[in-house]
Amino acid sequence: MKGTLFVVSGPSGVGKTSIINSLINKLDNVVFSVSCTTRAPRPGEVDGVDYFFVSKEKFMKMIENSEFLEWAEVHGNLYGTPKKFVLENIEKGKRIILDIDVQGALQVKKNFDDAVFIFVAPPSYEVLRERLLKRGTEKTEALLKRLENAKWELSKMIEFNYLIVNDDLEKSVLVMKSIIIGESYKTTRILTEELIKNLFKGVSDR
Ligand code: 5GP
Repeated sequence: MKGTLFVVSGPSGVGKTSIINSLINKLDNVVFSVSCTTRAPRPGEVDGVDYFFVSKEKFMKMIENSEFLEWAEVHGNLYGTPKKFVLENIEKGKRIILDIDVQGALQVKKNFDDAVFIFVAPPSYEVLRERLLKRGTEKTEALLKRLENAKWELSKMIEFNYLIVNDDLEKSVLVMKSIIIGESYKTTRILTEELIKNLFKGVSDR
């Protein structure tokens, strides 16, 4: 059986990465797609684990060579999903999780109609502002840009299949886990020729 693509999006600071990190080891057959970015690493971020940190020149070369499934300029930096990793893992039947921005999610939607799109929203705009301030990973200008971009991102949530309002991390992890498990039981994903053959073995036509 082919794998499934889970695209997780939502404004910066909403808690997507924390939710994904909490559930990734609690589910079988799940892999995380590590993106490439031209953004500088934050303290504690590891190359090849959080991101592949690349130069702008390298990123442009990768675009030229069609190495991305999707890519976008997000808050002034470039981010892209390496295509090879995703396609290989779809073939292996894995559940692949993408943590990408809304522009990227909408690009994926055009090409993968059976992907699952999950939007993570803050309980309010005010809470988002407080979270970003508390996280303290961005300077004032970058932080304001992220908050400004959040307005457009929030306006696109209707394009997604699922909406998780992240007011409680533990609950959000449980909901996302449930969505991932539930999707594996969809008839369209589970019904293989072999299963049909077995189910109807010994059943006569009349
Ligand atoms: P951050 O700089 O906070 O790690 O990420 C900024 C935004 O870029 C987040 O919304 C994150 O989901 C998004 N992002 C991370 N990787 C990718 C990617 O490969 N493609 C796109 N389009 N967005 C990404």
